[in-house]
Amino acid sequence: MGLISIMGDSLGCSATGERLVSAARDGDFQEAKALLEYNPRLAKYSTFGVRNSPLHYSAARGHHEIVALLIESGVDMNLRNYRGQTALMQACLHGHWKVVQTLILFKANINKKDYLSGGTAIHFAAQNGHSRCVRLLVADHVPSISEFWNIKSKKGKDVSASYSFDEVALSRVVNKKADGGITALHLAALNGHAECVQLLLDLGASISDVTVQDGSTIDLIGAGSTSLHYAACGGNAVCCQLLIASGASLIAKNANGLTPLMVARSWHRNGLEGILSKQPETRTNVLPSPYLSLPLMSIVKIARECGWRRPPQSPSGVEPCVICLEMKCMVAAEGCDHEFCTMCALYLCSTSTSSNSTSTRAPPGSIPCPFCRHPIISFSRLTTTNSIKLLPWTKNSSSLAPTVRLNHSVDLGCTSLRSVSFRKLKAPSICNNSDSETAPCLVSCLRPNLQRSASNRGSVSRRSSSRFTSSP
Ligand SMILES: [Zn+2]
Ligand SMILES: [Zn+2]
Repeated sequence: MGLISIMGDSLGCSATGERLVSAARDGDFQEAKALLEYNPRLAKYSTFGVRNSPLHYSAARGHHEIVALLIESGVDMNLRNYRGQTALMQACLHGHWKVVQTLILFKANINKKDYLSGGTAIHFAAQNGHSRCVRLLVADHVPSISEFWNIKSKKGKDVSASYSFDEVALSRVVNKKADGGITALHLAALNGHAECVQLLLDLGASISDVTVQDGSTIDLIGAGSTSLHYAACGGNAVCCQLLIASGASLIAKNANGLTPLMVARSWHRNGLEGILSKQPETRTNVLPSPYLSLPLMSIVKIARECGWRRPPQSPSGVEPCVICLEMKCMVAAEGCDHEFCTMCALYLCSTSTSSNSTSTRAPPGSIPCPFCRHPIISFSRLTTTNSIKLLPWTKNSSSLAPTVRLNHSVDLGCTSLRSVSFRKLKAPSICNNSDSETAPCLVSCLRPNLQRSASNRGSVSRRSSSRFTSSP
């Protein structure tokens, strides 16, 4: 009798577990919420064969609200499937930046390595050219200071002395090596994602890092290849030009004795002949990446401290954010003092592309304020906000043992970074605009009463004095 009741329990659990997997995969928030209220332990459920948790499914499909619900229900957000992939890798692979944003806010581990390729989340994002995901992954390492780009591009000689940040930590994330010594820059260059190459270079990606022979993967380009060798194989002219302008060597030979030009010839990338034959006579001035987002670190810190979603009870008498007209203003843009709710400020920093026109005086990486176009470098917290309680997620999650094997059609990843990269090789193109991430216009969504509420309401005195830079 006891055994039967345990079996019944277990079968019932796996049946509801599969219902939760379906809800997470299909984006049915209400169903997922009801199931988790019925049995909170379901958050730790994973499918039998591939050990994908509901978190993996919701991340792979871009259902960021369910991702947050699962994490708040106690799931270990760094849980791996049988390939060693975390939910963050899944979100980066498919370019679901809202999921990446959610996971970053919950402090997901960005350094976990996939078992099969040794790639981290940044490799998955760069491989498919998801620049928004890359900018979110480095949110904790790019300081909200106007001098960042000058420090990185070594233009300001004295600035680094007065504004220090952990450049080593940023470099470690950006230049992380997957199996075979492959970096995110190699993958972005190979797959022709020029915007991603530009962003990675601004973040300090190394142009001299070369691949190594590791025996486990088939390297068709050859060990000892730089990212320019990879760009030459991929055939994207803009990627090659960006790398050359950043100082990539045209004469570097890989282990097969091939220069980037020879690699381009062997892959019949005829359009690259002129670019890779000789150094350009004049030094090309590379503009900063429009995907650099300086205020991101400041707003992520504030969001973690005081929450970013709808407060349980919005206090009456507080003017709502003029963008969403729902949540109360929690932050102010430094410089122009326009106020936003945390969610809208996060959205702005994650989606906006900064102006990279040489005619404007905006520091590279600043985001234009949607009200007055003032270049925002950082946000500060309004002092009236209350801290939220700590979230009850647990570190150690033991997944429940499911007894039913079901097939799910969702694509949860590739077998190898290199195999996918080669499968995706495209014909050479001069301009790569294949980034599928649409950039919704924030300003166009504003309501007619913008002028009234957008005025600065003497907010300077309400602002806290803290200015967010890198952690000491
Ligand atoms: Zn808002
Ligand atoms: Zn403004």
